[in-house]
Amino acid sequence: MRCCSISRFAATPEESISMSAERKRREEIVRYGRMLHERGFVAAMDGNLSVRLDDDRILVTPTCVSKGAMRAGDMVIVDLEGTRVAGRRNVTSEIGMHVLIYRMRPDVEAIVHAHPPTATGFAAAGMALTEPLVCEVVMGLGCIPLARYGTPGTSELAQTLEPYVPHYDAILMSNHGVVAYGDTIEHAYMKMETVEHFAQIALVTHLLGKQQPLTGVDIEKLLLARTKYFGGKMSASMPAARMLEPEKVS
Ligand SMILES: [Zn+2]
Repeated sequence: MRCCSISRFAATPEESISMSAERKRREEIVRYGRMLHERGFVAAMDGNLSVRLDDDRILVTPTCVSKGAMRAGDMVIVDLEGTRVAGRRNVTSEIGMHVLIYRMRPDVEAIVHAHPPTATGFAAAGMALTEPLVCEVVMGLGCIPLARYGTPGTSELAQTLEPYVPHYDAILMSNHGVVAYGDTIEHAYMKMETVEHFAQIALVTHLLGKQQPLTGVDIEKLLLARTKYFGGKMSASMPAARMLEPEKVS
């Protein structure tokens, strides 16, 4: 495994610890990037992943690289403005989205963005995944809203997500893909899997021509159970029955 340039200059025990933590995070990004690629959630150079290194720095994937063939040394470190502070490659053009989420959600430690085909199909059809069809999805994510289209690589993209970021842990991006985030990169990745799996289930209900959503009472019970299981950690998710419309979100 190639070492990153920073890791070669460890001097004090404290620096060694933080550098070994950074190396671990680099390897985690490689691992989950490969999983995104293997599952067909990204094609070509699509998608990007990041983790928060500390209060001021984000470790993020570079632009123009397959997420299935990254090396630990490929990652870029940026500050909370999205400006590169370390790394040889150029940072992903969607860095603005990552910076926005880290700024708005201090609880978020990792972000995964991909184009999983079924969920992206819903996003391209202008359909949110807000029907409470599956109990585990209501428990884990509440629902997955649809943000309006924003041009990739511009500030417009982050602006379209802004109303949803405080309230949801996964968002469909119109005519684009999905972004999911959590307290670890594993959890962020799992949320991406859940979104795509739920999109497949929702698609089957559309093919069957029938949907049988959970009732308000059922949702209230799930909320109660969620509070017991996850406590305050799940406070960002909201159930479909209480989903806020973008214009009503402060
Ligand atoms: Zn994208």
